[in-house]
Amino acid sequence: MSPAGDVSGSDAQGLAPAKVDAIVTGAWVITVNSAREIYRDGAIAIRDGVIVEVGKRAAILAAYRAATLIDEPDAIVIPGMTNGHRHLLCCAKGAMPEGGTTLESLRRFIYPSFAALTEADMHVLARHAAAEMIRFGTTLFEEPGCNHLPAVLEALDEARIRARIGPWTWDGAGAAGRADLPDWLLMDADAALSRLSDGIEVVRKFGRPRLRDAVTIEGVATCSDALNRGAADLALDRDSLFVLHKSTSENEVALELAAFGERPVAHMASIGALHPRVLLNHMTSLDDGDVRAVAESGARVSQNPTSALKLAKGTTQTGKWKALADAGVPMALGTDAENVSNHTDICRVMQLAALLPRDMLRDPNAISAEQALEMATLGGATALWFDDVTGSLEPGKQADIVIFDTGNFDLRPLHNPVANLVYGSTGHSVDTVLIGGEVVLRRGQLTLLDEHALRAEVEQVNQRVLAEIGISPLPRWPVI
Ligand SMILES: [Zn+2]
Repeated sequence: MSPAGDVSGSDAQGLAPAKVDAIVTGAWVITVNSAREIYRDGAIAIRDGVIVEVGKRAAILAAYRAATLIDEPDAIVIPGMTNGHRHLLCCAKGAMPEGGTTLESLRRFIYPSFAALTEADMHVLARHAAAEMIRFGTTLFEEPGCNHLPAVLEALDEARIRARIGPWTWDGAGAAGRADLPDWLLMDADAALSRLSDGIEVVRKFGRPRLRDAVTIEGVATCSDALNRGAADLALDRDSLFVLHKSTSENEVALELAAFGERPVAHMASIGALHPRVLLNHMTSLDDGDVRAVAESGARVSQNPTSALKLAKGTTQTGKWKALADAGVPMALGTDAENVSNHTDICRVMQLAALLPRDMLRDPNAISAEQALEMATLGGATALWFDDVTGSLEPGKQADIVIFDTGNFDLRPLHNPVANLVYGSTGHSVDTVLIGGEVVLRRGQLTLLDEHALRAEVEQVNQRVLAEIGISPLPRWPVI
């Protein structure tokens, strides 16, 4: 960053340049605006955290005088990325026992670790997760149900990241029964709906526009129809977003078929719980009827390919990613809990989102690189009902901006920046991140959070929780 007064000039009519707070420049500014324009040698003018104008670098520098110039003539600049499914309520990345199915892993490791986390732990985990997401270019994420919500909100506010968030909620009265569920936070449907309603109030009273409420139930065959329908109604009534896990495995589909005679998505439609204010997470086991039901309802989807692959969900056989995209369903990309993806890097998810459907359908055009980049940005913001303020680089939107350093092997040679980003990049090439015009990462360094201190804190939490739940996450090979 440098003072920009000396690089701005007056325009052709001799008018004085307008004052702005910052200008960001790049070799390629990928706007994801309605025309999907990419500016070669582009720039973005920012005032009060909002994008004033996007255009060619020379024109922007002539028209505006900026207090701060972030001048990156070799960089690729994109909108802030969205992580459409990222649990904060989790611990000990890489500690989940290998080889479990989705339902086994939930019951053996994930639920017990949730129950062990204190309010102080949640504050640490939320700040650490936000730090990691920002480091890799994520400026907005969906948290599908956390505990100790006020502590988490404080942590996210410190990090300045945007989020959709609500409390972990379930009633143990779904098709899977409650035999394998912990007693932790189990309640009946009425109490669960009160908790969800309270969650909306807690987020709204916290009063930070970057943090929006969600009506979050677990939903992996663990919630009653009364809770599903009530949560869907609540989201609609309060202009919130109903977030739940759905069709996460063939096992879950079989459970609901046996209990209801309908697949999970069809059952949601039958009970009146599918509408535009619903975000369905995972959706790895679908049929054509499910795709039609989602598209007709206006509901949104987040896909989590690394999690789907690691947990062997069959996403390349029972996923319907191209069909959902062709039907115009807003789609976010997510990484899920850190134990199932072992990373929070949306660049790596973009690659899988572009490539897995091609192999599945033996069609190299099944999902384009542009579609994958759109899912990571505008599609994610739309899926989370945040596209009114973020997801693209255009006047009036918040200045949520990611700048990639192209001086790395993963982005060079550079001819097509979209292809390079989707197929070749990782989040380690993210150099600078702005959220609402505020620089939260510069030259790979977090400006508001202490990465090293956070790492030490989170490792302490992990060690204590793993000891409590009796898990020792070592490799299968002998450790001498
Ligand atoms: Zn999840």
